[in-house]
Amino acid sequence: MDFGLTEEQRMVQDMARNFAEKEIAPYVDQDEENHYYRREILTKMGDLGLLGWSIPEEYGGNGMGWMEGVLALYEISKVHTSWRLAISGNCWGPAMTVNEYGTDEQKQKYIPGWVDGSSVGSFSITEPNTGSDVASMKTFAADKGDHWLLNGTKMWISGGHSCDVGLLYAVTEKGAGAKGISCFIVDYNNTPGITRIPILKKVGMWPAPTSELVFENAMIPKENLLGPLNKGFLICMWQLNNTRMGCATGSAALSAACLAGSVQYAQERTQFGKPIGKYQMIQQQIADMILEDEAAKLMVYHAAWLKDNKLPSQQATSAAKLMGCHAAVNGANMAMKIYGSYGYSTEYPCGRWLRDAKQFETLEGTSNMHNQIIANIELGYSPNR
Ligand SMILES: Cc1cc2nc3c(=O)[nH]c(=O)nc-3n(C[C@H](O)[C@H](O)[C@H](O)COP(=O)(O)OP(=O)(O)OC[C@H]3O[C@@H](n4cnc5c(N)ncnc54)[C@H](O)[C@@H]3O)c2cc1C
Repeated sequence: MDFGLTEEQRMVQDMARNFAEKEIAPYVDQDEENHYYRREILTKMGDLGLLGWSIPEEYGGNGMGWMEGVLALYEISKVHTSWRLAISGNCWGPAMTVNEYGTDEQKQKYIPGWVDGSSVGSFSITEPNTGSDVASMKTFAADKGDHWLLNGTKMWISGGHSCDVGLLYAVTEKGAGAKGISCFIVDYNNTPGITRIPILKKVGMWPAPTSELVFENAMIPKENLLGPLNKGFLICMWQLNNTRMGCATGSAALSAACLAGSVQYAQERTQFGKPIGKYQMIQQQIADMILEDEAAKLMVYHAAWLKDNKLPSQQATSAAKLMGCHAAVNGANMAMKIYGSYGYSTEYPCGRWLRDAKQFETLEGTSNMHNQIIANIELGYSPNR
Protein backbone atom coordinates (compact mmCIF):
# COMPACT_ATOMS: atom_id res chain seq x y z
CA MET A 1 0.00 0.00 0.00
CA ASP A 2 1.48 3.29 -1.15
CA PHE A 3 0.51 6.37 0.87
CA GLY A 4 1.96 8.79 -1.66
CA LEU A 5 -0.78 10.37 -3.76
CA THR A 6 -0.23 10.54 -7.50
CA GLU A 7 -0.33 13.85 -9.30
CA GLU A 8 -3.75 12.94 -10.69
CA GLN A 9 -5.04 12.15 -7.17
CA ARG A 10 -3.78 15.49 -5.88
CA MET A 11 -5.55 17.20 -8.78
CA VAL A 12 -8.79 15.42 -7.84
CA GLN A 13 -8.33 16.49 -4.22
CA ASP A 14 -7.73 20.14 -5.24
CA MET A 15 -10.64 20.13 -7.65
CA ALA A 16 -13.05 18.74 -5.01
CA ARG A 17 -11.74 21.17 -2.37
CA ASN A 18 -12.18 24.14 -4.71
CA PHE A 19 -15.65 22.95 -5.65
CA ALA A 20 -16.69 22.53 -2.01
CA GLU A 21 -15.33 25.94 -1.03
CA LYS A 22 -16.90 27.74 -3.99
CA GLU A 23 -20.21 25.91 -4.48
CA ILE A 24 -21.10 24.48 -1.05
CA ALA A 25 -19.44 26.58 1.67
CA PRO A 26 -21.32 29.85 0.87
CA TYR A 27 -24.68 28.14 1.49
CA VAL A 28 -23.92 25.98 4.53
CA ASP A 29 -25.49 28.22 7.19
CA GLN A 30 -28.46 29.25 5.04
CA ASP A 31 -29.29 25.70 3.99
CA GLU A 32 -28.91 24.40 7.54
CA GLU A 33 -31.31 27.03 8.81
CA ASN A 34 -33.89 26.39 6.08
CA HIS A 35 -33.38 22.59 5.92
CA TYR A 36 -32.95 23.25 2.21
CA TYR A 37 -31.76 20.67 -0.33
CA ARG A 38 -29.88 22.62 -3.00
CA ARG A 39 -30.51 20.39 -6.02
CA GLU A 40 -28.17 22.33 -8.31
CA ILE A 41 -25.16 21.20 -6.25
CA LEU A 42 -25.81 17.64 -7.44
CA THR A 43 -25.99 18.83 -11.05
CA LYS A 44 -22.69 20.63 -10.69
CA MET A 45 -21.11 17.58 -9.07
CA GLY A 46 -22.25 15.54 -12.05
CA ASP A 47 -20.85 18.12 -14.48
CA LEU A 48 -17.45 17.85 -12.81
CA GLY A 49 -17.42 14.05 -12.81
CA LEU A 50 -17.74 13.86 -9.02
CA LEU A 51 -20.45 11.17 -9.26
CA GLY A 52 -18.66 8.73 -11.55
CA TRP A 53 -16.07 6.85 -9.46
CA SER A 54 -15.35 3.23 -10.52
CA ILE A 55 -18.06 3.42 -13.18
CA PRO A 56 -17.15 2.42 -16.77
CA GLU A 57 -16.61 5.39 -19.05
CA GLU A 58 -19.19 4.06 -21.53
CA TYR A 59 -21.85 4.88 -18.89
CA GLY A 60 -20.38 8.28 -18.08
CA GLY A 61 -17.85 7.21 -15.44
CA ASN A 62 -14.80 9.37 -14.85
CA GLY A 63 -12.24 6.60 -15.37
CA MET A 64 -11.01 6.81 -11.78
CA GLY A 65 -11.40 4.48 -8.84
CA TRP A 66 -12.07 4.25 -5.11
CA MET A 67 -9.02 6.13 -3.89
CA GLU A 68 -9.83 9.16 -6.04
CA GLY A 69 -13.48 8.90 -4.96
CA VAL A 70 -12.69 8.95 -1.25
CA LEU A 71 -10.29 11.86 -1.71
CA ALA A 72 -13.07 13.85 -3.39
CA LEU A 73 -15.79 12.86 -0.93
CA TYR A 74 -13.48 13.74 1.98
CA GLU A 75 -13.01 17.32 0.74
CA ILE A 76 -16.74 17.76 0.21
CA SER A 77 -17.74 16.28 3.54
CA LYS A 78 -15.20 18.45 5.39
CA VAL A 79 -17.17 21.47 4.23
CA HIS A 80 -20.68 20.03 4.68
CA THR A 81 -21.22 16.40 5.50
CA SER A 82 -24.79 16.41 4.14
CA TRP A 83 -23.31 16.50 0.64
CA ARG A 84 -21.33 13.28 1.08
CA LEU A 85 -24.65 11.56 0.45
CA ALA A 86 -24.62 12.64 -3.19
CA ILE A 87 -21.77 10.26 -3.96
CA SER A 88 -23.22 7.33 -1.99
CA GLY A 89 -26.78 7.97 -3.09
CA ASN A 90 -25.96 8.20 -6.80
CA CYS A 91 -22.62 6.57 -7.54
CA TRP A 92 -21.55 4.00 -4.93
CA GLY A 93 -25.15 2.90 -4.34
CA PRO A 94 -27.39 2.70 -7.43
CA ALA A 95 -24.90 3.22 -10.28
CA MET A 96 -22.28 0.81 -8.99
CA THR A 97 -24.87 -1.85 -8.09
CA VAL A 98 -26.62 -1.67 -11.46
CA ASN A 99 -23.22 -1.81 -13.13
CA GLU A 100 -22.47 -5.02 -11.22
CA TYR A 101 -25.84 -6.77 -11.43
CA GLY A 102 -27.78 -5.05 -14.21
CA THR A 103 -28.57 -6.05 -17.76
CA ASP A 104 -27.09 -4.04 -20.61
CA GLU A 105 -30.45 -2.27 -21.04
CA GLN A 106 -30.60 -1.36 -17.34
CA LYS A 107 -27.05 -0.05 -17.39
CA GLN A 108 -27.64 2.08 -20.47
CA LYS A 109 -30.96 3.38 -19.23
CA TYR A 110 -30.12 4.31 -15.64
CA ILE A 111 -26.42 4.68 -14.91
CA PRO A 112 -25.71 7.81 -17.05
CA GLY A 113 -28.39 9.85 -15.22
CA TRP A 114 -27.02 9.01 -11.76
CA VAL A 115 -23.50 9.78 -12.90
CA ASP A 116 -24.21 13.09 -14.67
CA GLY A 117 -26.42 14.29 -11.81
CA SER A 118 -29.61 14.62 -13.85
CA SER A 119 -31.21 11.86 -11.77
CA VAL A 120 -31.29 11.76 -7.95
CA GLY A 121 -30.68 8.24 -6.65
CA SER A 122 -31.50 6.41 -3.41
CA PHE A 123 -31.50 2.95 -1.87
CA SER A 124 -34.39 1.74 0.25
CA ILE A 125 -33.75 -1.03 2.76
CA THR A 126 -35.02 0.15 6.16
CA GLU A 127 -38.67 -0.10 7.24
CA PRO A 128 -40.54 1.11 10.33
CA ASN A 129 -39.99 -2.29 12.01
CA THR A 130 -36.89 -3.44 10.13
CA GLY A 131 -33.53 -1.84 10.80
CA SER A 132 -30.48 -3.94 11.66
CA ASP A 133 -32.34 -7.18 10.90
CA VAL A 134 -32.58 -6.53 7.15
CA ALA A 135 -33.85 -10.05 6.38
CA SER A 136 -37.02 -9.37 8.39
CA MET A 137 -38.28 -6.73 5.94
CA LYS A 138 -42.00 -6.85 5.04
CA THR A 139 -42.41 -4.74 1.88
CA PHE A 140 -43.72 -7.27 -0.63
CA ALA A 141 -43.40 -7.40 -4.39
CA ALA A 142 -46.03 -9.76 -5.78
CA ASP A 143 -45.38 -11.35 -9.17
CA LYS A 144 -48.36 -10.41 -11.33
CA GLY A 145 -47.11 -11.98 -14.53
CA ASP A 146 -46.31 -8.91 -16.60
CA HIS A 147 -45.37 -6.66 -13.63
CA TRP A 148 -44.55 -6.59 -9.89
CA LEU A 149 -47.06 -5.13 -7.44
CA LEU A 150 -45.30 -3.42 -4.58
CA ASN A 151 -46.86 -2.84 -1.14
CA GLY A 152 -45.20 -1.70 2.07
CA THR A 153 -43.34 1.16 3.73
CA LYS A 154 -39.70 2.15 3.65
CA MET A 155 -38.36 4.44 6.36
CA TRP A 156 -35.44 6.83 6.77
CA ILE A 157 -34.60 6.88 3.07
CA SER A 158 -31.92 9.42 2.19
CA GLY A 159 -32.90 11.43 -0.84
CA GLY A 160 -36.40 9.93 -0.58
CA HIS A 161 -38.51 12.94 -1.49
CA SER A 162 -36.17 14.27 -4.17
CA CYS A 163 -35.32 10.90 -5.69
CA ASP A 164 -35.90 10.23 -9.39
CA VAL A 165 -34.80 6.61 -9.70
CA GLY A 166 -33.55 4.40 -6.88
CA LEU A 167 -32.94 0.85 -5.71
CA LEU A 168 -35.44 -0.87 -3.45
CA TYR A 169 -35.23 -4.20 -1.66
CA ALA A 170 -38.46 -6.17 -1.13
CA VAL A 171 -39.69 -9.63 -0.23
CA THR A 172 -40.48 -11.81 -3.25
CA GLU A 173 -40.88 -15.08 -1.40
CA LYS A 174 -42.65 -14.88 1.95
CA GLY A 175 -41.17 -16.92 4.80
CA ALA A 176 -37.82 -17.43 3.06
CA GLY A 177 -36.01 -14.71 5.06
CA ALA A 178 -32.77 -13.58 3.46
CA LYS A 179 -33.36 -16.02 0.59
CA GLY A 180 -36.68 -14.44 -0.36
CA ILE A 181 -35.61 -10.83 -0.98
CA SER A 182 -35.08 -9.23 -4.40
CA CYS A 183 -33.77 -5.89 -5.61
CA PHE A 184 -35.73 -3.55 -7.87
CA ILE A 185 -35.10 -0.34 -9.76
CA VAL A 186 -37.93 2.08 -8.97
CA ASP A 187 -38.79 5.09 -11.14
CA TYR A 188 -40.35 7.43 -8.58
CA ASN A 189 -41.61 10.04 -11.05
CA ASN A 190 -43.50 7.61 -13.25
CA THR A 191 -44.93 5.10 -10.80
CA PRO A 192 -48.40 5.76 -9.37
CA GLY A 193 -49.03 4.45 -5.85
CA ILE A 194 -45.99 5.96 -4.12
CA THR A 195 -46.41 8.51 -1.34
CA ARG A 196 -43.33 10.33 -0.08
CA ILE A 197 -43.44 11.75 3.43
CA PRO A 198 -40.48 13.96 4.41
CA ILE A 199 -39.00 13.26 7.85
CA LEU A 200 -38.46 16.82 9.00
CA LYS A 201 -37.87 16.38 12.72
CA LYS A 202 -34.30 15.16 12.39
CA VAL A 203 -31.42 15.78 14.79
CA GLY A 204 -28.98 16.62 11.99
CA MET A 205 -28.22 16.35 8.27
CA TRP A 206 -30.77 19.10 7.74
CA PRO A 207 -30.14 19.92 4.05
CA ALA A 208 -30.13 16.21 3.13
CA PRO A 209 -33.70 15.00 2.59
CA THR A 210 -34.80 11.89 4.47
CA SER A 211 -38.20 10.30 3.86
CA GLU A 212 -40.76 7.69 4.59
CA LEU A 213 -41.91 6.05 1.33
CA VAL A 214 -45.28 4.33 1.21
CA PHE A 215 -46.03 1.90 -1.64
CA GLU A 216 -49.68 1.03 -2.29
CA ASN A 217 -50.15 -1.24 -5.29
CA ALA A 218 -47.22 0.41 -7.06
CA MET A 219 -46.66 -1.31 -10.40
CA ILE A 220 -43.01 -2.05 -11.11
CA PRO A 221 -42.21 -3.19 -14.67
CA LYS A 222 -41.07 -6.79 -14.89
CA GLU A 223 -37.75 -5.74 -16.39
CA ASN A 224 -36.91 -3.61 -13.33
CA LEU A 225 -35.88 -6.60 -11.25
CA LEU A 226 -32.14 -6.12 -10.64
CA GLY A 227 -30.06 -9.28 -10.61
CA PRO A 228 -31.46 -12.77 -10.00
CA LEU A 229 -34.80 -13.29 -8.24
CA ASN A 230 -34.43 -13.84 -4.46
CA LYS A 231 -30.76 -12.79 -4.45
CA GLY A 232 -31.54 -9.29 -3.19
CA PHE A 233 -30.10 -9.85 0.29
CA LEU A 234 -26.68 -10.65 -1.20
CA ILE A 235 -26.96 -7.66 -3.53
CA CYS A 236 -27.90 -5.49 -0.55
CA MET A 237 -24.84 -6.61 1.44
CA TRP A 238 -22.63 -6.04 -1.62
CA GLN A 239 -24.10 -2.56 -2.02
CA LEU A 240 -23.65 -1.72 1.66
CA ASN A 241 -20.00 -2.72 1.48
CA ASN A 242 -19.67 0.08 -1.08
CA THR A 243 -22.00 2.75 0.27
CA ARG A 244 -20.52 2.38 3.76
CA MET A 245 -17.40 3.96 2.30
CA GLY A 246 -19.47 7.12 2.11
CA CYS A 247 -20.03 6.93 5.88
CA ALA A 248 -16.40 6.00 6.59
CA THR A 249 -15.01 8.83 4.46
CA GLY A 250 -17.66 11.33 5.50
CA SER A 251 -17.08 10.73 9.21
CA ALA A 252 -13.28 10.90 8.84
CA ALA A 253 -13.72 14.23 7.04
CA LEU A 254 -16.06 15.54 9.70
CA SER A 255 -13.45 14.66 12.30
CA ALA A 256 -10.88 16.62 10.26
CA ALA A 257 -13.18 19.65 10.19
CA CYS A 258 -13.58 19.50 13.98
CA LEU A 259 -9.83 19.22 14.44
CA ALA A 260 -8.98 22.09 12.07
CA GLY A 261 -11.59 24.34 13.68
CA SER A 262 -10.40 23.48 17.20
CA VAL A 263 -6.74 24.11 16.39
CA GLN A 264 -7.54 27.51 14.91
CA TYR A 265 -9.78 28.45 17.83
CA ALA A 266 -7.18 27.33 20.39
CA GLN A 267 -4.57 29.56 18.71
CA GLU A 268 -6.86 32.59 18.57
CA ARG A 269 -8.74 32.48 21.87
CA THR A 270 -6.80 33.89 24.80
CA GLN A 271 -7.51 33.39 28.50
CA PHE A 272 -5.28 34.23 31.47
CA GLY A 273 -3.14 36.26 29.04
CA LYS A 274 -2.25 33.36 26.70
CA PRO A 275 -3.80 31.50 23.75
CA ILE A 276 -5.71 28.57 25.24
CA GLY A 277 -3.64 26.30 22.95
CA LYS A 278 -0.71 26.92 25.29
CA TYR A 279 -2.43 25.05 28.13
CA GLN A 280 -1.53 21.39 28.48
CA MET A 281 -5.10 20.22 28.97
CA ILE A 282 -6.14 21.79 25.65
CA GLN A 283 -3.06 20.22 24.08
CA GLN A 284 -4.13 16.83 25.43
CA GLN A 285 -7.56 17.31 23.85
CA ILE A 286 -6.00 18.27 20.50
CA ALA A 287 -3.60 15.30 20.66
CA ASP A 288 -6.48 12.91 21.39
CA MET A 289 -8.39 14.29 18.41
CA ILE A 290 -5.37 13.87 16.13
CA LEU A 291 -4.96 10.19 17.04
CA GLU A 292 -8.49 9.21 16.09
CA ASP A 293 -8.60 11.59 13.13
CA GLU A 294 -5.43 10.19 11.59
CA ALA A 295 -6.44 6.57 12.26
CA ALA A 296 -9.83 7.17 10.62
CA LYS A 297 -8.30 8.71 7.50
CA LEU A 298 -5.71 5.96 7.08
CA MET A 299 -8.32 3.25 7.55
CA VAL A 300 -10.42 4.83 4.80
CA TYR A 301 -7.38 4.87 2.51
CA HIS A 302 -6.71 1.22 3.39
CA ALA A 303 -10.26 0.14 2.55
CA ALA A 304 -10.17 2.13 -0.71
CA TRP A 305 -6.86 0.53 -1.63
CA LEU A 306 -8.29 -2.96 -1.01
CA LYS A 307 -11.28 -2.17 -3.21
CA ASP A 308 -9.15 -0.73 -5.99
CA ASN A 309 -7.07 -3.90 -5.89
CA LYS A 310 -10.17 -6.14 -5.89
CA LEU A 311 -9.23 -7.64 -2.52
CA PRO A 312 -11.71 -8.61 0.24
CA SER A 313 -12.68 -5.38 1.94
CA GLN A 314 -15.72 -5.98 4.13
CA GLN A 315 -13.86 -6.04 7.44
CA ALA A 316 -11.71 -3.04 6.49
CA THR A 317 -14.79 -1.09 5.37
CA SER A 318 -16.66 -1.78 8.61
CA ALA A 319 -13.56 -0.95 10.63
CA ALA A 320 -13.09 2.32 8.74
CA LYS A 321 -16.74 3.22 9.26
CA LEU A 322 -16.55 2.45 12.98
CA MET A 323 -13.28 4.32 13.47
CA GLY A 324 -14.59 7.29 11.50
CA CYS A 325 -17.67 7.30 13.64
CA HIS A 326 -15.59 7.40 16.87
CA ALA A 327 -13.37 10.15 15.44
CA ALA A 328 -16.33 12.27 14.32
CA VAL A 329 -18.43 11.92 17.48
CA ASN A 330 -15.49 12.37 19.86
CA GLY A 331 -14.01 15.13 17.69
CA ALA A 332 -17.27 17.07 17.58
CA ASN A 333 -17.73 16.63 21.32
CA MET A 334 -14.20 17.86 21.97
CA ALA A 335 -14.60 20.82 19.59
CA MET A 336 -17.70 21.90 21.50
CA LYS A 337 -15.63 21.94 24.72
CA ILE A 338 -12.65 23.76 23.21
CA TYR A 339 -14.85 26.50 21.72
CA GLY A 340 -16.40 27.09 25.18
CA SER A 341 -19.69 28.98 25.14
CA TYR A 342 -19.15 30.02 21.51
CA GLY A 343 -19.28 26.34 20.67
CA TYR A 344 -22.80 26.33 22.01
CA SER A 345 -23.78 29.22 19.74
CA THR A 346 -25.32 28.37 16.39
CA GLU A 347 -23.07 31.04 14.86
CA TYR A 348 -20.24 28.50 15.13
CA PRO A 349 -20.29 25.07 13.46
CA CYS A 350 -19.82 22.94 16.61
CA GLY A 351 -23.55 22.21 17.01
CA ARG A 352 -23.83 21.11 13.38
CA TRP A 353 -20.73 18.94 13.69
CA LEU A 354 -22.12 17.20 16.76
CA ARG A 355 -25.60 16.71 15.28
CA ASP A 356 -24.20 15.42 11.99
CA ALA A 357 -21.63 13.17 13.67
CA LYS A 358 -24.31 11.24 15.58
CA GLN A 359 -25.82 9.90 12.34
CA PHE A 360 -22.75 7.74 11.79
CA GLU A 361 -23.50 5.67 14.90
CA THR A 362 -26.73 4.48 13.26
CA LEU A 363 -27.01 4.59 9.50
CA GLU A 364 -25.78 1.83 7.18
CA GLY A 365 -25.30 -0.42 10.18
CA THR A 366 -25.20 0.67 13.80
CA SER A 367 -21.90 0.58 15.67
CA ASN A 368 -23.00 -2.67 17.36
CA MET A 369 -23.55 -4.24 13.93
CA HIS A 370 -20.13 -3.14 12.68
CA ASN A 371 -18.44 -4.52 15.80
CA GLN A 372 -20.18 -7.82 15.06
CA ILE A 373 -19.11 -7.80 11.38
CA ILE A 374 -15.49 -7.08 12.28
CA ALA A 375 -15.35 -9.74 15.01
CA ASN A 376 -17.29 -12.41 13.07
CA ILE A 377 -14.86 -12.11 10.17
CA GLU A 378 -11.87 -12.26 12.51
CA LEU A 379 -13.28 -15.31 14.30
CA GLY A 380 -13.94 -17.08 11.00
CA TYR A 381 -17.73 -17.08 11.50
CA SER A 382 -18.37 -15.15 8.29
CA PRO A 383 -16.32 -14.51 5.14
CA ASN A 384 -14.47 -11.27 4.47
CA ARG A 385 -16.08 -10.52 1.11
C1 LIG B 1 -30.02 10.22 8.66
C2 LIG B 1 -30.35 8.80 8.30
C3 LIG B 1 -30.31 8.42 6.97
C4 LIG B 1 -30.63 7.09 6.61
N1 LIG B 1 -30.64 6.74 5.28
C5 LIG B 1 -31.07 5.48 4.92
C6 LIG B 1 -31.20 5.12 3.53
O1 LIG B 1 -30.88 5.89 2.64
N2 LIG B 1 -31.68 3.89 3.23
C7 LIG B 1 -32.06 2.98 4.18
O2 LIG B 1 -32.51 1.90 3.85
N3 LIG B 1 -31.94 3.30 5.51
C8 LIG B 1 -31.45 4.52 5.89
N4 LIG B 1 -31.33 4.86 7.23
C9 LIG B 1 -31.73 3.88 8.25
C10 LIG B 1 -30.56 3.23 8.97
O3 LIG B 1 -29.77 2.49 8.07
C11 LIG B 1 -31.13 2.38 10.10
O4 LIG B 1 -31.66 3.29 11.03
C12 LIG B 1 -30.09 1.49 10.73
O5 LIG B 1 -29.84 0.38 9.91
C13 LIG B 1 -30.49 0.98 12.13
O6 LIG B 1 -31.79 0.51 12.15
P1 LIG B 1 -32.80 0.98 13.30
O7 LIG B 1 -32.73 2.46 13.37
O8 LIG B 1 -34.11 0.36 13.00
O9 LIG B 1 -32.21 0.42 14.64
P2 LIG B 1 -32.46 -1.05 15.32
O10 LIG B 1 -32.04 -2.10 14.37
O11 LIG B 1 -33.84 -1.11 15.85
O12 LIG B 1 -31.44 -0.97 16.51
C14 LIG B 1 -31.70 -0.27 17.72
C15 LIG B 1 -30.53 -0.54 18.67
O13 LIG B 1 -30.43 -1.96 18.94
C16 LIG B 1 -29.13 -2.41 18.60
N5 LIG B 1 -29.23 -3.79 18.09
C17 LIG B 1 -30.13 -4.29 17.20
N6 LIG B 1 -29.90 -5.58 16.98
C18 LIG B 1 -28.82 -5.92 17.73
C19 LIG B 1 -28.05 -7.11 17.93
N7 LIG B 1 -28.36 -8.25 17.27
N8 LIG B 1 -27.01 -7.08 18.78
C20 LIG B 1 -26.67 -5.94 19.42
N9 LIG B 1 -27.34 -4.78 19.28
C21 LIG B 1 -28.40 -4.77 18.45
C22 LIG B 1 -28.60 -1.44 17.56
O14 LIG B 1 -27.19 -1.42 17.53
C23 LIG B 1 -29.19 -0.12 18.08
O15 LIG B 1 -28.36 0.39 19.09
C24 LIG B 1 -30.98 6.16 7.61
C25 LIG B 1 -30.96 6.55 8.97
C26 LIG B 1 -30.64 7.85 9.30
C27 LIG B 1 -30.64 8.24 10.75
